[in-house]
Amino acid sequence: MRGAPGTVSALTAALRNGALRLPEVIEPYLDRIRKRNDELGALLHVFDEGARSRARELQRRLDAGDWPGPLTGVPVAVKDNISLAGHPTTAGSRILKGFRPVYTATAVERLEASGAIVIGKANLDEFAMGSSNEYSAYGAARNPYDTGRVPGGSSGGCAAAIAGGLALGALGSDTGGSVRQPAAFCGLVALKPQYGSVSRYGLIAFGSSLDQIAPMARTARDCAALYNAIRGVDPHDATSREDGAPVDVEAWSQPPRDVRLGVPRSWLAAGLDADVRAGFDRCCARFAKLGARLVDVALPDPSWAVATYHILANAEASTNLARYDGVRYGPRAAGVASVDVLYAATRGAGFGPEVKRRILLGTYVLSAGYRAAYYARAARARLALRAAYAEVLQCVDALLMPTTPTPAFRLGEKLGDPLAMYLCDVFTIGANLTGWPAVAFPVGRNPAGLPLGAQLCGPLGGEDLLLGLVHRFDGGEPLPLPEG
Ligand code: GLN
Repeated sequence: MRGAPGTVSALTAALRNGALRLPEVIEPYLDRIRKRNDELGALLHVFDEGARSRARELQRRLDAGDWPGPLTGVPVAVKDNISLAGHPTTAGSRILKGFRPVYTATAVERLEASGAIVIGKANLDEFAMGSSNEYSAYGAARNPYDTGRVPGGSSGGCAAAIAGGLALGALGSDTGGSVRQPAAFCGLVALKPQYGSVSRYGLIAFGSSLDQIAPMARTARDCAALYNAIRGVDPHDATSREDGAPVDVEAWSQPPRDVRLGVPRSWLAAGLDADVRAGFDRCCARFAKLGARLVDVALPDPSWAVATYHILANAEASTNLARYDGVRYGPRAAGVASVDVLYAATRGAGFGPEVKRRILLGTYVLSAGYRAAYYARAARARLALRAAYAEVLQCVDALLMPTTPTPAFRLGEKLGDPLAMYLCDVFTIGANLTGWPAVAFPVGRNPAGLPLGAQLCGPLGGEDLLLGLVHRFDGGEPLPLPEG
């Protein structure tokens, strides 16, 4: 975008040495939001006045010789399933229309403590269930590289905001691929942290054993800066932990000699788009040139992970979403005679069809007589998958694979076929079921100009390794933004 630096690192450097002043940095973003947000459907709520006054406050601190933190002045979008006290937080659902949380998510508090400016709340598939952002109750978001196509999901609004030049970074959430798949479709870097690395306090729960708040940006260095700001243990989330060290991508300026990257060769067979395959092959060649060793590995067929995920995630969703009953949150059905009817009428009107499908499936797999056949078996399948992944790590340092089977698809293309939508996540779900960290990154564009992505997935505590490798790969250079 003309007049404003295109990366977090360039912006913070210019603010630090006084080459730029803050109110002027924020205005081009607000301008662009005014011009493009209606078309892109990226942000559901825009905080223009809040962002301006925060920019003034931060500049006053800079003028006083203070440096608020590594994200000073960085405009970020926050997915609308992450709580911000006093501001609307809808999770993309009608059932939370008008809901304003009373506390702020720890990750957002930490982001702001590092100097970031939350510029708006981003669109998403309802309750983060989807892979195209078309299941939002507030309209689809669009891919800035081709507005006839989806930006991916469920953190589609976050991805559209960054690729559309409305923000420099974002916090999304990833339960089965929801920051990585949109990153692949929109040419971005996104990290799904190891389960527990980032507090979930203030994230509206979908599948609690899989959910992670997850940063998105244009380069590995920027993504690391966001991750470093939000990571670490939080007394409000008993599953959060202090594993590993902050990521230091600069320490990765040396070629990654002797790093062994495992490629699950059988996953590259049928069903993989030819452009995605070509991009992946180029990515492998480049890593080899950088000094990494590529090793073929065998992992279970990824379709197992999809089946396992949809049983576990929906089971957890069916219990997590039971709290939306019209009593405590959001709109309540009027003129009903009993509590049961109140619940049914509120949910019937408040949830969209995909969320209803998941609640029904989740309730079914947990119900008496079926629990052992579905839920308990899926829980065992998750353990088997973890064991298979762990075994592969005996001979490689991380896994390298495509992020998605295809580039961004057309709006409406998969709406009539839920299974086709679910299969968008075949390569991303493994990291959620194992709890491993994984990072998606751009590997160029196809002849039609659509971004192509690949993914590194690796050991517990491996965020530094993964982002360091991607930093070697991108050299701090983002994929150019589309015209528009
Ligand atoms: N697309 C996947 C789903 O619909 C993943 C969603 C997510 O990661 N939040 O379940």
